[in-house]
Order: sequence, then C-alpha cells, then structure tokens
Amino acid sequence: MANSKYEYVRFFEQPDTLLANTWIVVRIDGRGFSKLTTKYKFVKPNDKDALDLMNAAAEAVMRELPDLVLAYGNSDEYSFVFHKDCVLFERRASKLTTTIVSTFTSYYVFLWAKYFPDKPLTPPLPSFDGRAVCYPSDTNLRDYMSWRQADCHINNLYNTTFWTLVQQGGMGAREAEQRLSGSVSADKHEILFKEFGINYNNELECFKKGTVLYRDFYQPAQPSSVPAQVQSSSTPLAQPQPRRVPAKSFSKPFEQNELDAREKLGL
Ligand code: ATP
Ligand code: ATP
Ligand code: MG
Ligand code: MG
Ligand code: MG
Ligand code: MG
Ligand code: MG
Repeated sequence: MANSKYEYVRFFEQPDTLLANTWIVVRIDGRGFSKLTTKYKFVKPNDKDALDLMNAAAEAVMRELPDLVLAYGNSDEYSFVFHKDCVLFERRASKLTTTIVSTFTSYYVFLWAKYFPDKPLTPPLPSFDGRAVCYPSDTNLRDYMSWRQADCHINNLYNTTFWTLVQQGGMGAREAEQRLSGSVSADKHEILFKEFGINYNNELECFKKGTVLYRDFYQPAQPSSVPAQVQSSSTPLAQPQPRRVPAKSFSKPFEQNELDAREKLGL
C-alpha cells in the first residue's frame, strides 16, 4: 500500500536509534519470578537447574545474535552486550531489545523440559522484560557489570542467610527477616559461621558471583563446520575452551585479564 492515504501513520513512529560508538547493554529480567519460583518449587535460595536453564537460554541467544560479545547473568536476569560497532537493526532500541527478549524467552520455554523434566510448564508461562542502555566508555561498561555483580553478591548473601535461618534454624519468614533487619555483611557471615558452621566463601561461585558468557574471537583453527562461537568462563574473556563456569569478580580477575580481554573485544 505504498503511497496510500494510510501511509501517513508511519510518521507517528518515534525514532529510537541508540547513540553511535557506545556499548549497548540489553538487560532482561524474569517477570514475577518470585511467584514462579514458588509455583515450581525452586530450591531456595539457589536452584542450580534454574540457573543452568537461564545460562543455556543466554548461550542460545548469543549463538543466534553474532553481534553480541559478552553476557552476564544472575538470578532471573541477564545482561547482553553489543559491541560498540554494532549496526544491527540500525541500532534501534526497540528492535534490539524485543529480539533479545523474545529469543531468550523462546529458548527458556523450549529448554525448560530438559532442566525440569518432572515439572511441566503451565500458563501463565515464563516471560521477561527488557531495556537497552548505552555505555560510552569501557570504564562505564565495567562499572555496569560490577554493579550487577554487586547486586548478585548482596542478594545472595542475604538470601543464603535468610534461608539458612528458616531451613536450618527453624525460624518463620518474618522472624528471619527481623533478625536480619539492619544487619551488615559481617553480621551475616557471622550468623552463618557461628550458628550453622557455614563458611559463605565455600558457596558455589556461580551463586556468589553469577555467570559470564563471552565470544571467543581467537579460537584455534577448527574444522569449518564448527564455528568459533560462544564461550563461558570463570576467568572472563580469557579461556580458549568452551565451558560454562561462574564469573570471578569483575573488579579483580577481570582486571588481571584486562589486556587479554581488551584484545578479544577489539578495544
Ligand atoms: P519483577 O517482575 O519485578 O522482576 P520478580 O518477582 O521477578 O519481579 P526479582 O527482583 O526479579 O522479582 O527477583 C527474582 C526472584 O526470583 C528473587 O526472589 C530470586 O530469589 C528468585 N530466583 C531467581 N532465580 C532463582 C533460582 N535459580 N533459584 C531460586 N530462586 C530464584
Ligand atoms: P524481518 O526480520 O526483517 O521482519 P522477515 O523475513 O520476517 O524479515 P517480513 O517483512 O516480516 O520479513 O515478512 C514476513 C514474511 O513471512 C513474508 O514473506 C510473509 O509472506 C511470510 N509469512 C508470514 N506469515 C505467513 C503465513 N502465515 N503464510 C505464509 N507466509 C507467511
Ligand atoms: Mg523486573
Ligand atoms: Mg524478575
Ligand atoms: Mg531479577
Ligand atoms: Mg512482517
Ligand atoms: Mg518479520
């Protein structure tokens, strides 16, 4: 219907092209996952299968969108990073965000049965929201990642202590909440260690720090049928072999690997 009398409606569309030469981060987050975790009886505070499912869906997203260079996830959220040079969808925010959200959601639902064979999905089905934000400098991008990882750490320390008080200490939810009200990190470490013999540092790395996926641009030569693709690692951006292990903290090991990381990202 080109040039029809209806075509003027096209001009109601608002431009949403993201600033050139900036890192684009699309963060998705599960909608109402507090309820979903109850409905499907996720292990509290951390259901490993649920995290593995999030990581598998994120890996699938990275395989389908070659412009993505890095992703970081914890809990029900994942942040996907498009390279500064990305021109996919002319950098239109709505197109980038909705494509990531729908691809992620499709795979999350598709792969569910593999991770929860005894828990069939029923409506309302899992869904995710998403947003795109531009980060101009490498420092901004790293600080963004550190911010999400700090969030992971704070929530996980709280949740671990809370659920230990409930599951092993026999407290009710309200009582455990009151006990933790106003407590700082050191108090939580002390409760875990002195009262329950739990050394928080021995918790799984992926619970404490989240998971990083990255694209290895410099994989050793392989048969052409096996494309060099997504990697995941505990030492972000430095492992040549594909494997998924938890993220180390962005502030220290990330820095140690900085040169390597910068090279891989083409900075
Ligand atoms: P919203 O729609 O606003 O995001 P929400 O209920 O999803 O609401 P979040 O702040 O995103 O709220 O929190 C996610 C919830 O899901 C938290 O309570 C978190 O502990 C829980 N959760 C996410 N992943 C897991 C997991 N692997 N195991 C156990 N609980 C999890
Ligand atoms: P883009 O990613 O840019 O949207 P696209 O290939 O999806 O690319 P569209 O302009 O969205 O391009 O066109 C959708 C295509 O799918 C058209 O070729 C359309 O004829 C075809 N298509 C969609 N629904 C049906 C259907 N029910 N039966 C047959 N063909 C269909
Ligand atoms: Mg949310
Ligand atoms: Mg959520
Ligand atoms: Mg969340
Ligand atoms: Mg169409
Ligand atoms: Mg289409």
